[in-house]
Amino acid sequence: MMPRTLITGGAGFLGSHLCDRLIKEGHRVICLDNLITGMVENVAHLIGHDAFRFIKLDVTEYLYIDGPLDYVLHFASPASPIDYQRLPIQTLKVGSLGTHKALGLAKAKGARFLLASTSEVYGDPTIHPQREEYWGNVNPVGPRGVYDEAKRFAEAMTMAYHRYHGLDTRIARIFNTYGPRMRPNDGRVVSNFINQALRGEPLTVYGDGAQTRSFCYVSDLVEGLYCLLMSGEVNPVNIGNPKEFTVLDLAHMVLKAVGGPSADSTGLATGIELRPLPVDDPRTRQPDIGLAQERFGWEPKVQIAEGLALTIEYFRKQLK
Ligand code: UDP
Repeated sequence: MMPRTLITGGAGFLGSHLCDRLIKEGHRVICLDNLITGMVENVAHLIGHDAFRFIKLDVTEYLYIDGPLDYVLHFASPASPIDYQRLPIQTLKVGSLGTHKALGLAKAKGARFLLASTSEVYGDPTIHPQREEYWGNVNPVGPRGVYDEAKRFAEAMTMAYHRYHGLDTRIARIFNTYGPRMRPNDGRVVSNFINQALRGEPLTVYGDGAQTRSFCYVSDLVEGLYCLLMSGEVNPVNIGNPKEFTVLDLAHMVLKAVGGPSADSTGLATGIELRPLPVDDPRTRQPDIGLAQERFGWEPKVQIAEGLALTIEYFRKQLK
C-alpha cells in the first residue's frame, strides 16, 4: 500500500519540495494551502499526477479529509519576517489553531505527525551554537513574537498530543533555508540579495551586516526532514547547515556569484547599501546538528557556492 500523506502549506517553498520528495518516495500526497504566501506555481507540475491532490484550504478552519492518512506534515505558516509581521494574526492562528486542527486530524487517522518548527524558538540566542536543550531568548511582545511564540506554542501542543494521546510526533527546528521556489519578494536575505544583484541594484544590508546566519540549501533540508520523519526521534531536532556566515559575507558571495552591474567596474563594496537593523533581529544563529547526525546520520552536503548558483539560476529564469 502506498502511504497517504497530508501536507499543510504544501504549495509553499518547503512544502512544495516535500510534495515532490514524498511522491518520489511512493506516497500519495494531499496538499493543503490557503495560498496567502504559498503559490500554485510551486506545485503546478504535480497537478494531474495520480498521486497528487491539491485542496485550497485554511488549516485554521474546519478540517475534514476522507479516507486514511499515514502522515500529517504541518508546514503552513508565513515564515519570512516581513510576511509574519504583515500577517500577525494569521501567523498566530496557524501556529496555534492550525497546529491543533492538524494534530486532531493526525489523531483521528492514527497518522504520524511532523511539525515544522523553527530556529526562531531560540529567539536572539545567548548560547552558541544552539542545541536542542536550549530554551531560548524570545521577546513575546516584540514584532517577531507572533511567529516565535506561535511556533513555541505549536511545539508545546505537539508534545502534549504525544504525551497525553500517545500520538506519534516529530518536531523539526528548521534553520535558514534557501533555494528555488522562494518568492523573489519574500523579503528574506537570500532572495533579496539575489534579486537586487540580478536587477543591478545595491544589496540592502541591515545594520552593519555583522549578524550571522547559517544557510541550508533546500535539497539538504528536505533530506533532513525526510530522515527525521522516518526516524524514531520524538524530541525536537535541529535541521540546518552549521556553516555560519555574516550577512555581509553573504552579500559579497552573492555579488561575486551574480556578477553584472552591482559587481563590476566600481568593485564589490559599492554594490552594498546599509539600512537600519530590524527590531529584535537575532545577532547570531547556528545550529548544532549533533542530534540529527547521531540519531539518523544526516548532515548537509551542498556548499554555499553551489547552492547560490542554483538559486541564482532559478531567479534569473523567474525574472525573464
Ligand atoms: N537582512 C539584510 N538585508 C535584507 C534582508 C535581510 O541584511 O535585505 C538580514 C536580516 O536583518 C537578518 C538576516 O539578514 O539579520 C536574515 O534575515 P531573513 O529575513 O532572511 O531571516 P531571519 O533569519 O531574520 O528570520
